[in-house]
Order: sequence, then structure tokens, then C-alpha cells
Amino acid sequence: MADSTVSDELLAAIRTIPDYPKEGILFRDITTLLGNARAFRRAVDALVQPWAGSKVDKVAGIEARGFILGGAVAHQLSAGFVPIRKKGKLPYDTVRIAYSLEYGLDEMEMHKDAIEPGEKVILVDDLIATGGTAEAATRLLQQIGAEVIAACFIVDLPDLGGREKIEALGVPVRTLVAFPGH
Ligand code: AMP
Repeated sequence: MADSTVSDELLAAIRTIPDYPKEGILFRDITTLLGNARAFRRAVDALVQPWAGSKVDKVAGIEARGFILGGAVAHQLSAGFVPIRKKGKLPYDTVRIAYSLEYGLDEMEMHKDAIEPGEKVILVDDLIATGGTAEAATRLLQQIGAEVIAACFIVDLPDLGGREKIEALGVPVRTLVAFPGH
């Protein structure tokens, strides 16, 4: 976790929308944080802080909010950026992985030449809940030979156990704020 002043500031910048996209879900809306210049900068600085000055080859962002954050993180670390997208959106040859959603299966993919074997990669998304999305992205990156050195998220929903899924793949997880429940 980031230090408590930063966490408090980020928590205050995130808007919670009850019953979106369906009843019972508390949607943690980070667009309010992104629209707040100071909070956006603080979030990006805090996410990259453990790797400031170390060599990171690529930042991989998960569609779509992971693109916004991942682009800023990549710039900050002087790393390249790699999009991980829902299937069918990337124009060149891809590698693909299936993963389960609450109802049914989905697939995500990345360009097969986006990462060289052995490159050090940080995975970025806005929020980790059950960890299913980030787990699939981590496996996809590892399959093509990336060394995934960390997975970073602004928001953790620790009651859903996502962090443990990613750590079980040998990847440290960094999060900045946590909300109880789901
Ligand atoms: P999961 O695969 O369960 O870890 O879900 C993570 C993905 O779903 C992320 O890309 C999040 O943006 C989105 N997500 C899941 N739960 C929430 C929530 N309560 N508020 C906002 N986004 C969520």
C-alpha cells in the first residue's frame, strides 16, 4: 500500500456508484481520480515508486482503463507500452488466452511480437477484484516469455482474493487503496 496520506487522497478521489452495472455491485469509478490532475499524478507516482530507477522494458495495460494508467506508467518508467485487448481488436498476429467471467468465458489477446522473451514487464489495471482478469493477463505474458516483475492496481478489493491468485504465479502485487466487500 502507498503511504496513508496518498491513500486517503486517492480514496477521496474515487467515486462509488451503487448497483452499477447491476444490483449489489459497488462500482469504484476511477474517472473522477483521472480527472483530478493532482490525484492522477499521485496515483501514477505511487504505482511506479518501487521501480523508479530500475530497468523495466514494457508496461502491459488491460483494456480499457489499464490503457490510460499503463500509458502514464510506461512514460514515467521510460518503458514501452503493450495493450492487452479483448479478442478481435488487434490487427496483427496474436496470442490468446481464455478466462472465465461471472457468466461464461471470454478471451484476451496481445500481439505475438509485443514482448521479447526475458523482457521485464509490469502489468497494470485500475482495479483487482477476483483476480480472474489479471491472472489471465499474467499467464498470457508468461506464456510468451515475459518476466512479469509486478502487477499494479490503484484499487484492491481484498475480500475477493485476487492478490493471492497473482502472487501464486510468482508475481508481486502493488495496490494503492482498498475497499472492503465487493
Ligand atoms: P476481476 O477479474 O474480478 O479481478 O475484475 C477486474 C476487472 O473488472 C477490472 O478490469 C475492473 O476494472 C473491473 N471491476 C471488477 N469489479 C469492479 C468494481 N467493483 N468496480 C469497478 N470495476 C470493477
